[in-house]
Amino acid sequence: MREPLPGTQDLARRLGSHAAVSRVVATRPLSPSLTEVELEGAAQTLTGQPGNDVMLLVDQRGTRMVRRRYSVRSVDLDADRYRLWVTTGHEGVGSDWARGATAGDEVDVIGPRGKVLVNAHAAWHLFVGDVSGLGAFYRMTESLTAPRQVLVVVEIDHPDDALTLALPEGVAITGVFVERRERHRDDPEGLLRALAALVLPAGDGHAYVVGEFSVLHTIVDALHDRGLDDSAISPKSYWRAHRANADHGEPERDR
Ligand SMILES: Cc1cc2nc3c(=O)[nH]c(=O)nc-3n(C[C@H](O)[C@H](O)[C@H](O)COP(=O)(O)OP(=O)(O)OC[C@H]3O[C@@H](n4cnc5c(N)ncnc54)[C@H](O)[C@@H]3O)c2cc1C
Repeated sequence: MREPLPGTQDLARRLGSHAAVSRVVATRPLSPSLTEVELEGAAQTLTGQPGNDVMLLVDQRGTRMVRRRYSVRSVDLDADRYRLWVTTGHEGVGSDWARGATAGDEVDVIGPRGKVLVNAHAAWHLFVGDVSGLGAFYRMTESLTAPRQVLVVVEIDHPDDALTLALPEGVAITGVFVERRERHRDDPEGLLRALAALVLPAGDGHAYVVGEFSVLHTIVDALHDRGLDDSAISPKSYWRAHRANADHGEPERDR
């Protein structure tokens, strides 16, 4: 495998993370909106804890480098491989990369990244967002040891995006998939209604909210109204309706 580009190595140093090159093993369409990308190389170094993501160099235009971040869905350290669930139902640099990736392609990767990890002290875990969050939600859920209670509320663009997972006995999961139908991508109404219908379990729980920038802010407000304070909510906006993410992979922050 080649070395990561100098620009990638510099950025990783500044971020206090690691740079490496991984190779595409395979891509598999999972649903109309999601493609799984399996990568090989430096899995131990790059993939971190459940909730962490990796930053991929998905496009280079002269000196301009466009990077996108994807949560790690699963890791196989023995095979030195890891998988990402990438949204490919829209047109974008990252989704183009995932759709066009073929076995043997090499990609600069920086990781592990991200600060949202499982709150080990929580009595229950609530995951809220859109399909871009499923990879993170399911890796975090799979890391929980029984007995645990998990609630997952996800807005989907197509009925076949309702991907489920098999869990060990003792991890109780309630999954609610909300179809977006005619609603715009920055309309929080579907998730708000699903959340309002949800009975939160007793005890101190933790909510993880990811997805579209403005939807996320509305959901966080709704969780405050349900009695969760900021220490019990981990929000992270992944993308922003009507705007491409910045070249470093983050959605723009102005409201
Ligand atoms: C910490 C972190 C973790 C992330 N993890 C994941 C992950 O596991 N899986 C994942 O798919 N994404 C994840 N994202 C988002 C991802 O990094 C990209 O920003 C996103 O996929 C859009 O990139 P793009 O280049 O395809 O589109 P862009 O070039 O950024 O945007 C092009 C257009 O597509 C629209 N768009 C972007 N994303 C979506 C979407 N999901 N649905 C509909 N329209 C969209 C934009 O509004 C814009 O109009 C994560 C982001 C962060 C910050």
